[in-house]
Amino acid sequence: MERKLASIRIIDEIRPHTNADSLELAIVGGWQTVVKKGEFKAGDHVVYFEVDSVLPVRPEYEFLRKCCYVRKAWVEGFRLKTIKLRGELSQGLITAIPGGFVTFEGRDITEALGVVKWDPPVPAQLSGQVKGNFPAFIPKTDQERVQNLHREVTEAHANRDLFEVTIKLDGTSFTAYHYDGQVGVCSRNLEIKINDENKDNTYVKLFVDSGLADYLLTQKLNIAVQGELMGPGVQGNREKLSEATLFVFDIFNIDEQRYLTPIEREHLFIRIYANTKNVHHVMVLHKAIELPSTISEILKMAEGPSVVNEVREGIVFKRLDGKFSFKAISNEFLLSEK
Ligand code: AMP
Ligand code: MN
Repeated sequence: MERKLASIRIIDEIRPHTNADSLELAIVGGWQTVVKKGEFKAGDHVVYFEVDSVLPVRPEYEFLRKCCYVRKAWVEGFRLKTIKLRGELSQGLITAIPGGFVTFEGRDITEALGVVKWDPPVPAQLSGQVKGNFPAFIPKTDQERVQNLHREVTEAHANRDLFEVTIKLDGTSFTAYHYDGQVGVCSRNLEIKINDENKDNTYVKLFVDSGLADYLLTQKLNIAVQGELMGPGVQGNREKLSEATLFVFDIFNIDEQRYLTPIEREHLFIRIYANTKNVHHVMVLHKAIELPSTISEILKMAEGPSVVNEVREGIVFKRLDGKFSFKAISNEFLLSEK
């Protein structure tokens, strides 16, 4: 699923800014954005741009040049980050809707406005030779942000659903699989060739050297093991690891096309752990809890340390049936992003 970076939304609420007379806080879903006083009111249809949007260089966005202009080989434009304005958190951008759009709530206008997602560069050691697209028989590892899940969170409360909560690590997404005698390894969006020429690629090396590839093949398990690959050369090695290490967060049963539940995953993981090296599990904060009662409380839970880093990226909630999950990113972390 591509992220809806720019969409038509309705302002839920306008709140005063406690520290600036000319500013206000606009609330859209779980997001708070600082806006000029009087510019918008509750109920207005607007365009909401999420953080990580890169807006194109066009006259109507020139007011962003001072704060947000970026130019890299792969992208040029105005990049929206999480910031504080006069002490209040501000995430994303709200504008009036440009002419020529049929406006209904939720309409995705990311492409229409020429908005693209900010992506940091991929180091050569991680890119490697591509075998092809991500296999169609395995889901990608994306997680939706809790700020966009008002309805789902309300439903989970009503049903008293239970969730596993794990720490979200900031490395790179890794998927390895065995399916009917074939093994493969993938980055977030692509499958990587497993051959001699590619043997130093970080994904291939971890998959082979850890013993995970051999284990999946000999056990004939039709599963995909998904985790965060961490270590030297990956996202600044935030956990200061001396070797590439995989932190597993999901196991997918390919034959049944479903994620294992946390308990099934734990049982299988113990066997994997005993037969491999440098394969760990992400830290589990809670095995089974109900969701905190508001989105801001869920976001508060996201704050805290990871393994050795004092500011973790956030946490991930997985419903115990394995069918619904989402992330809550730490605002401390977002504010510290370069
Ligand atoms: P993002 O990194 O913001 O794109 O969020 C989704 C990604 O978080 C997934 O693709 C995973 O690579 C990563 N991730 C890190 N830790 C976890 C975790 N504990 N559970 C699920 N996904 C995780
Ligand atoms: Mn990530």
